Amino acid sequence: MSPPPPPPPSPGGSCIFCRIAAGEIPANVVKRADGMLAFTDVSPQAPTHLLVIPTTHVSSLNDAKDAASLGKLLGFARDVAKEAGIDQKGYRVVVNTNPDGGQTVFHLHLHVLGGRPMHWPPG
Ligand code: 5GP
Ligand code: ZN
Repeated sequence: MSPPPPPPPSPGGSCIFCRIAAGEIPANVVKRADGMLAFTDVSPQAPTHLLVIPTTHVSSLNDAKDAASLGKLLGFARDVAKEAGIDQKGYRVVVNTNPDGGQTVFHLHLHVLGGRPMHWPPG
């Protein structure tokens, strides 16, 4: 028997990325896949700054229980970077987690940043 389908994004809820996933808040969506969405960051920190999210709510990396889904999300971010044309020169994938990690939106997301050289160490 196949597993039950995941719950849909919570429409009408307060999570901004759930609302984007549900189409309640507009976003510049660049790619969709099964249970995943990529859209441009509203406040870009690089010429290319995309956000990759699971469409069901997971608050942070700490709350992601399913390693296979995390792997899919990372592969999706890689595909998004390739389609954005930043894969050859290079890019950075960032997952800010909880306050010390700089997380401000508590729905798991991967930042995909490129189009300029990135600095190290990060701030
Ligand atoms: P965090 O600080 O949690 O790692 O990243 C949250 C990101 O979400 C920030 O880069 C911020 O600019 C972006 N963001 C916040 N609200 C919105 C929104 O309504 N639409 C889009 N496209 N990005 C958002
Ligand atoms: Zn959410």
